[in-house]
Amino acid sequence: MGQQAAGRRVTADVGAVDDSRCVVLHVDMDAFFAAVELRRDPTLRGRPMMVAGTGGRGVVLSATYEARAFGVRSAMPTAQAMSRCPGIVVVPPDHAAYHTASAALMGLLGQITPVLEPVSVDEAFLDVSGATRRLGRPGRIATLIRDRVRDELSLTATVGAAATKFMAKLASSLAKPDGLLIVPPAEVLPTLRPLPVGALWGVGPKTADRLRSCGFASVGDVADADVATLAHILGPAAARSLHELARGRGDRRVTPDTTEVSIGAEQTFAESLVGEGAVERALLELAGTAARRARRAGFAARTVVLKARYDDFTTVTRSETAASPVDTDRQAYALAVRGWQRLPAGERPVRLLGVRLENLVRADAVAEQLTLDDGGIRPGSRATQRALDAIVDRFGPAAPRPASLISPPESPRR
Ligand SMILES: [Mg+2]
Repeated sequence: MGQQAAGRRVTADVGAVDDSRCVVLHVDMDAFFAAVELRRDPTLRGRPMMVAGTGGRGVVLSATYEARAFGVRSAMPTAQAMSRCPGIVVVPPDHAAYHTASAALMGLLGQITPVLEPVSVDEAFLDVSGATRRLGRPGRIATLIRDRVRDELSLTATVGAAATKFMAKLASSLAKPDGLLIVPPAEVLPTLRPLPVGALWGVGPKTADRLRSCGFASVGDVADADVATLAHILGPAAARSLHELARGRGDRRVTPDTTEVSIGAEQTFAESLVGEGAVERALLELAGTAARRARRAGFAARTVVLKARYDDFTTVTRSETAASPVDTDRQAYALAVRGWQRLPAGERPVRLLGVRLENLVRADAVAEQLTLDDGGIRPGSRATQRALDAIVDRFGPAAPRPASLISPPESPRR
């Protein structure tokens, strides 16, 4: 499958592709700034238009595909763009509007999975391996993202799906605009090899020229070269990394800003809680909500943080770290209660309680360990928990739950 044959895979074809390993998605908005302007003024749709600085040294920031057909490109001087495309509509940039649209986009993507690595204002990698149980196969998730961006943001996004970040990004660039391309591992090399060397990550126009002048025109040429030859042209480090990319190998790790990633639940009570029993019942509910959110996102947590605010608005937190990462309601509850018991609480009325899961780790990376720790199916075990999650997913949180989860499990006492 070459670049042309790859074409654009849209929604209808998704089911036909083996997307099981394509858990890295690259989401890239189409002509983002220009699209935000078109959303605001639909009379500009279908016309060549660009968002560009209008001063003497102004450059094009974003151009519609109608303008690109005239050769207008980002970073081109505005004057040059205007001479290439006489009559083009020029809109001065409104960065506040783009920032707002970007925040809405990242918010939407964050609902798909917290394993989200923004690359720029309009571009992000997602690792959806923890979201497939909830949302379906990667191709379905990619389609869901495109649908939601269109319906909720009135913008269009192109999505590439593959097993590595480089391939996912390449796939989105091949599918633009308003497209979806899934590249399963078996199609990586046929997709890559015919592409010009400039398609490789890190190869700018100068490097591409140098490679071409040495006889390396396509990605396939680079893949077939030996690293020593490439090292003469590029230096050893770049040679190694390009050679790997050209052979379809690359990093798949999507790195969310983990210091910011926490999942939790908190509640302010209409009437302050007094007494251990009332607090523990509330913690059971909050820990359950927080743990369910973590499971849905495919995470387990090393740390559970309890937050309490008293009637005088003093706020205190206690964090408890588990021996191995936790993700069941019962485990999260036990740690939250342990935190509560470390507070010099007495009978002070509590107006707010929160349970937060921090130091998140990918649940699939620790699944085996969790299973061993849990020792198979029993109330509160992961298998039971999954069955209960399925009920909650289907019938909502008010669904009847087994009494074993409603009554507080035994918790450590001081
Ligand atoms: Mg973009």
